[in-house]
Amino acid sequence: MPNVSLTKTPMPEQEPRARAKNFGEVALGYSPKQAMAEAGRCLGCKTRPCVGGCPVNVDIPAFLAAAAAGDFAGAYGVIRQTNALPAVCGRVCPQESQCEQLCVRGKKGEAVGIGRVERFAADWALEAKCSEKSAPSQGQPSNPRPAEPPQKRAGEALRVAVIGAGPAGLSCAGELARRGYQVTIFEALHKPGGVLVYGIPEFRLPKRIVAAEIEGLRRQGVAFELNAVIGKTITVEELLGEFSAVFIGSGAGLPNFMNIPGENYNGVYSANEYLTRANLMRAFDPAYDTPTIQSKKVAVVGGGNVAMDAARCALRLGAREVSIVYRRTEAEMPARREEIHHAAEEGVRFVLLTAPVRVLGDENRHVCGLECVQMQLGEPGADGRRRVSELPGTNFVMELDTVIVAIGNKPNTLVEEGTAGLETNRHNCLLVRENSLQTMRDGVFAGGDIVTGAATVILAMGAGRQAAAEIDDYLQK
Ligand code: FAD
Ligand code: SF4
Repeated sequence: MPNVSLTKTPMPEQEPRARAKNFGEVALGYSPKQAMAEAGRCLGCKTRPCVGGCPVNVDIPAFLAAAAAGDFAGAYGVIRQTNALPAVCGRVCPQESQCEQLCVRGKKGEAVGIGRVERFAADWALEAKCSEKSAPSQGQPSNPRPAEPPQKRAGEALRVAVIGAGPAGLSCAGELARRGYQVTIFEALHKPGGVLVYGIPEFRLPKRIVAAEIEGLRRQGVAFELNAVIGKTITVEELLGEFSAVFIGSGAGLPNFMNIPGENYNGVYSANEYLTRANLMRAFDPAYDTPTIQSKKVAVVGGGNVAMDAARCALRLGAREVSIVYRRTEAEMPARREEIHHAAEEGVRFVLLTAPVRVLGDENRHVCGLECVQMQLGEPGADGRRRVSELPGTNFVMELDTVIVAIGNKPNTLVEEGTAGLETNRHNCLLVRENSLQTMRDGVFAGGDIVTGAATVILAMGAGRQAAAEIDDYLQK
């Protein structure tokens, strides 16, 4: 057996000091030679543990074998059998806690860089304009498109409405279109993509990648109605009059706040607002009118991917000092390890075991500081996470001009308004029937963050795909 490296083939990246000043992509992607070398580290295990760790069960050993042999179209074809957005997933999936966590290669050295090779194959295919149909796939797609579209009456294909153009809605629409349905996506914003366009920054996920994936859906015949706020412009009830079934994938875009004094001062933003200005409204781009946020010293409260994205955007928008304020330690941070590492490399400070108690404002009600208290870790609670408590008498003040709150999001309840039979739990999440994604209302299905609360791209995509299969079953009965 040839000598195989115990570590991953390094990912070429922009140099930290340079990239902290631009919105260009941080990770530059493998060359064909690097992708083949990394894929060649796969042991081709018969037990295939990595596949079980992927929420959409991509046939990982098969695509790695194809990539290792230089058959990138074949690799892409395998991934596309179960994953509608591989160029996105290769960039943003938390592989270290999914497929790569179970990788046998990782027991002695580093796991195979599954996500990195996935990204390479997807980028290669996008570059080569390799469509799902033209990519020579190994084996048949799991749900081949039927020869005849499903019909209500002769000549009339069944129509399905999808609410929300995020990963859940896009993957549901793609799967339904592949099964022959006429699909219209209703999206509240002026651009489709959900968090992929308004939340995750350009330097982690270039918007041309998302646009190319969406173009693929348009080519499949999916129609988009933009600036359509369901619950306001049209209700689900009205959609049910026009469409045979409805899928709700409206996400969890309502930010949580800290509920501490001073939180309404100027200069306090939710991460959602801050990131939307920076990404969707392109505040960094002089060609756009969006006012830039001129901060010098910024605190971002939270320890998830959203907090890392906001902190790194603040640096790129010109802030001199950016701190992450988090009440536990780095080990408990929910953000991907790679994002924490990149943020630290770029100069973001980590103020850990610290919780804000009060925002301080000047005479113009503009933020001038954040009073914090130190915290200590206790025993794990019922959810397995270690509890935290304040250390009395340890209050201190951070001087700053901007506070960005990134402590989680929940679904807003707009979609449910005016529609009988849709039920939610106390976190605003839509309730679905046991072992199904059908809501309490017949013909209305839901999936992604609107059902689970804020989660991941791949879980939302898995839910969209599952819902499409259930809608197909429901309409074919
Ligand atoms: P969304 O992506 O939120 O899409 C919902 C769509 O529905 C939106 O376009 C919204 O405008 C639209 N909508 C809402 N209400 C209505 C309405 N009434 N009418 C019509 N349309 C409506 N996950 C990862 O896996 N990796 C990461 O690195 C990662 N980073 C993240 C960074 C940020 C800043 C954020 C906010 C999230 C991140 N996530 C990450 C989480 C991930 O993006 C979400 O779990 C995922 O996007 C959920 O998909 P969704 O389709 O359910 O919802
Ligand atoms: Fe390859 Fe790792 Fe999967 Fe084994 S577990 S088949 S080494 S990717």
